[in-house]
Amino acid sequence: MARSEDSPWAVSVAQVASRAGQSKPVDSDFPAPGGIGDEVIGVEEGAPVHVAGSFDSIVDGLVLTARVTAPVHAECTRCLKPLRRDWGVDVTAFFPYESPAADAGKGRGRDEEVEIIAGEEESEDTYPLLANGAFADLEALLRDTLVEALPLQPLCREDCRGLCSQCGADLNEDPDHHHDVTDIRFAALAGLKAQLEAEQRD
Ligand SMILES: [Zn+2]
Ligand SMILES: [Zn+2]
Repeated sequence: MARSEDSPWAVSVAQVASRAGQSKPVDSDFPAPGGIGDEVIGVEEGAPVHVAGSFDSIVDGLVLTARVTAPVHAECTRCLKPLRRDWGVDVTAFFPYESPAADAGKGRGRDEEVEIIAGEEESEDTYPLLANGAFADLEALLRDTLVEALPLQPLCREDCRGLCSQCGADLNEDPDHHHDVTDIRFAALAGLKAQLEAEQRD
């Protein structure tokens, strides 16, 4: 059986887990776990996901505060142009020394501490440490964080003009594009009229 520390997502934290008040910086790429999004929008499995931040030890566990940056592939909701850009999300995660179940009811006020570090607009989750606290495995954390952060309605740019609802032309490339006739039935009649006029000229 593969050892947990051989996982590409394992980060050695033994040196900071020994006592409170220590910090270990993280600044490296991890392969994107599978299952983030789908063909239309997501992060390709194995794509480099950058994690920059630090593990800080508090009394009963480690707090990871980091910025996670991943290449997200998507499609503009309005013009369907393929998009490929780095998506960054701030994350705060707690790795308790004991299982959360064993920790329950002890009321050591860790929520308070994490909250101060977390600030606004960040997700906070709890993950187990591996090998008696020697390693933090970031696989589940990265998956959860990125799945949550996927944009629901990505746009190639805020003011994307989208596609012509009648012919599908890209209105970004041709801002003056328009159709003189707004109703498809009149369009058919106009075509017939032009045809008749052309025949009369012959
Ligand atoms: Zn667009
Ligand atoms: Zn058109």
